[in-house]
Amino acid sequence: MRVRRAPQALCGPGKLDSEPLPPADPASDPFSFPPGEKEAKRRLARFLSGSIDSYADDRNRLDLEGTSMLSPYLRFGMIASQRAVTAAFEAVQNATEPRTREGAETWLSELIWREFFISILYHFPAARGESFRAVGRFLRWRDDEDDFAAWCAGETGYPVVDAGMRELSRTGFMHNRARMIAASFLTKHLVIDWRRGELWFMQHLLDGDPAGNNGGWQWTAGTGTDAAPFFRILNPVLQGKRFDPNGCYVKRWLPELAERPLDVIHEPTRPIVNHTEARVRALRAFKTAQQRARAKK
Ligand code: FAD
Repeated sequence: MRVRRAPQALCGPGKLDSEPLPPADPASDPFSFPPGEKEAKRRLARFLSGSIDSYADDRNRLDLEGTSMLSPYLRFGMIASQRAVTAAFEAVQNATEPRTREGAETWLSELIWREFFISILYHFPAARGESFRAVGRFLRWRDDEDDFAAWCAGETGYPVVDAGMRELSRTGFMHNRARMIAASFLTKHLVIDWRRGELWFMQHLLDGDPAGNNGGWQWTAGTGTDAAPFFRILNPVLQGKRFDPNGCYVKRWLPELAERPLDVIHEPTRPIVNHTEARVRALRAFKTAQQRARAKK
């Protein structure tokens, strides 16, 4: 499950003159996901002895390693979710400070989201292919191939959206906050069907999971189980400023912006849509869908 893929030439047949590459050190590269139970246990132990304490505060920070990065291991059963849940319970019980207890409780609640989405798909299998809430089934999604291609390539002009999409294509992983921002951008700013984004994510995520991915997309699109209001349209500039305050995440995945001053690092560069106009368009589309859904009742 290595994600840093070697350049094509190194994989091809024929004689290689280069020195052998040094073995990957998973401990120093969180985006290297060597398969196996041993690595899963190592990651869990590392998280429990460190980031879990500040998880409640840091889990949304794009520029920090504030989460466990265990999802591919949970997805493929290299670690049982029961084991992670038990560890979370123990961390809650053993916490000696309110902050560390809050960290463990928050992590436990995220593990429960995983179970929740699995149970939704089990009991409502139709949600796999269509919007859970009626409003989503009456939405007139845009079929704009140029916009979709720009989103996939991480070329929307909104730095935090593009950084997330590049992180995904380069590593097979994407930070949860970036997933929310990117999914919101596709479904709201571009009014493109969440199922297209869901498929793209499934094709690229190492942790790609039918239930978690479907749940995440429908939740963000406002078509899922959660009665989340469709007017929750994440502003990519404000999200960037809040969750990547030093611009490190953007600079890491968009090296072409490395020299950009911090005060403008999250401002759009040649955006494919204007945020304010896109917001108005999305609200109009969702409102019309809501009226159509009510008329059909
Ligand atoms: P941590 O924050 O350490 O959480 C621990 C574990 O809890 C995760 O490994 C994961 O198994 C589970 N978890 C955490 N948050 C969620 C959540 N919101 N929903 C469901 N489970 C959660 N997660 C997947 O495992 N597979 C997917 O295909 C997937 N697609 C997503 C698509 C979208 C649009 C969104 C918004 C979220 C998606 N998620 C998915 C949830 C979440 O982004 C990842 O589980 C998380 O980023 C993995 O990082 P981590 O292991 O460091 O998580």
